Amino acid sequence: MAAHQEKKPTEERNRKSTQNGTRTSQVQWGRAWEVDWFSLASILFLLMFAPLIVYYFIMSCDQYQCSLTDPVVDLLTGNKYLSDIWNKTPTLTYRAAGIYTLWVAFQVVLYVCIPDFCHKFLPGYVGGVQEGAVTPAGVVNKYEINGLQAWIITHMLWFANAYYFHCFSPTIIFDNWIPLLWCANILGYAVSTFAMIKGYFFPTNAKDCKFTGNFFYDYMMGIEFNPRIGKWFDFKLFFNGRPGIVAWTLINLSYAAKQQELYGQVTNSMILVNVLQGIYVLDFFWNEAWYLKTIDICHDHFGWYLGWGDCVWLPYLYTLQGLYLVYHPVQLGTANAIGILMLGLIGYYIFRMTNHQKDLFRRTNGNCKIWGKKPEYIECSYMSVDGTKYHSKLMTSGFWGWARHFNYTGDLMGSLAYCLTCGFDHILPYFYIVYMTILLTHRCIRDEHRCFSKYGKDWKRYTSAVPYRLIPGIF
Ligand code: NDP
Repeated sequence: MAAHQEKKPTEERNRKSTQNGTRTSQVQWGRAWEVDWFSLASILFLLMFAPLIVYYFIMSCDQYQCSLTDPVVDLLTGNKYLSDIWNKTPTLTYRAAGIYTLWVAFQVVLYVCIPDFCHKFLPGYVGGVQEGAVTPAGVVNKYEINGLQAWIITHMLWFANAYYFHCFSPTIIFDNWIPLLWCANILGYAVSTFAMIKGYFFPTNAKDCKFTGNFFYDYMMGIEFNPRIGKWFDFKLFFNGRPGIVAWTLINLSYAAKQQELYGQVTNSMILVNVLQGIYVLDFFWNEAWYLKTIDICHDHFGWYLGWGDCVWLPYLYTLQGLYLVYHPVQLGTANAIGILMLGLIGYYIFRMTNHQKDLFRRTNGNCKIWGKKPEYIECSYMSVDGTKYHSKLMTSGFWGWARHFNYTGDLMGSLAYCLTCGFDHILPYFYIVYMTILLTHRCIRDEHRCFSKYGKDWKRYTSAVPYRLIPGIF
C-alpha cells in the first residue's frame, strides 16, 4: 500500500491535522460536500443534454452521413421537422434487447463467477484479489481483478464465431447500433437510480457516503463511494471496465466487418483505429490492478456520471472514429498513416510510462529507480474521517518532474491520433479530442483541488517544485 496507518491519541491527531495547514483536511477530501452554483449548473446541463448529444451524434451518422451541420440546416430551413428525424430513428427492438441482456449477463458471469487465472501464467500481470486505496472512511476494499481474462474470453468467442461458428454476423453491433443505444440508456438510468436508492437505504459503507442535500448533484456525482452487492460485485469496477470497455474493441471490430461487407476491403485508417484503440483497451485490462489507484476508483462516488457514462457515453462516443469510417472509408497515404501511427504510439508510451512511474514509486514507497536514479519526492501526510493519520509521497522525478499530469498529455496525443485517421472532411470524429481535452483539463483542476484539500501545504510545496500541469513551460 502507498500509505501506512499510524494510530495516535486524539489530541495528537488533531494537532497534526492543524499543522498540516488545513484543519478541514480530516473530512474534506473526496468529492465535494457542498455544491457551488457552477457545479450545479454544469450538472443540470449534462443531465439534460448529454443523452441528447449522444443521440445527435449517432443519428447524424445514421441519417446524415456523419454531418453534424446538415440536421441543423434541415431544421432551420424547414426542410425537415424534429418529428421527421425522430420518426426515421430506429426504435427499441426485441432483438436488440435480447442481445444487450445476453451481453451484460455474460459480462456479469465472467466478472463474478470466474476467478482470475491469467496471473498464474502471464509473467508480470497482476490479477486475482487485489487491494484498492484507502477510502476517506479509512476502508481498504478488496477487488477480484479478472478483466483481462474477461476481455480474452469475450474476444476469443467473437473470433471463433466470426471465422468458424457463424451464429451471428460480426456486423451485429453496427446493424443494431441505435436499438442498442436505447438498451444502454435503460441500463445506465436503472443502475444510477438504483445506486441512489441504495445510498439512502442500504449503503455498503455508510461512512463513505456523501449527501450534499442537492438531489441533482447527488444523483449525478453519486452518494456511495464503493457500492457493492455481496462481497465481490463492485459497481465501479464492473461498470467502468465491463461492459463498456470490453465492448469498445468489439464495436471497432464490428465497424471493420461492416466496411468489409460494404466496400469489400478494410481501409488502413480503420486498421489504425482498431490497433491504436485496441492497445489502449488492452493496456487498461493489463493494468486493471493499477486502475484501482486512479481517480475513478479512488475518489469518485458512483452516480449517473459513472453509471450512465460507462453504459452510454463511453461505448457510443469513444468509438465515433470507427463509425465515421464506415460511412467515409478513408484510405491514408503511407506517410500520413505512419505519422499517425507514430503519434499514437508515442502518446501511448508517454501515457503508459508516466502512469507506470507513479505506480512503481507508490508500490515500492519510493524504493525504486526512475530513469536510472533514485526518485526525488516530497513527503506529505493526510487524515481520514476518523482522524487516523497517513503518510504519503509525491514524486518529483521522471515525467512527474516535467508536469503534474504528463500522463494526460500522452493520453491527449493518442486521442488526437485516433481522430486524424479520419481526415479533415467532417468535424464529428474530432469530437473525441475536444471532449478529452475538456475532460482531462477539468479532471486536472478537480484533482488538484482535492489534493490541496488532502495534503494542504505539502501540496503547495509540490506545485512549487513542479509548476506546470500538462505541457512543461506552457500550461
Ligand atoms: P492520475 O493517475 O494522475 O492520479 C492522480 C492522483 O495521483 C492524485 O490524486 C494523487 O493521488 C496522485 N498523485 C498526484 N501527483 C503525484 C505524484 N507526483 N506522485 C505520486 N502520486 C501523485 O489521474 P487519473 O486517475 O485521472 O488518470 C489515470 C489515467 O487514466 C491517466 O493516464 C488518464 O489519462 C487516464 N484517463 C482516461 C480517461 C478516458 O476516458 N480515456 C478518463 C480519465 C483518466 P493520492 O491521493 O494517492 O496522492
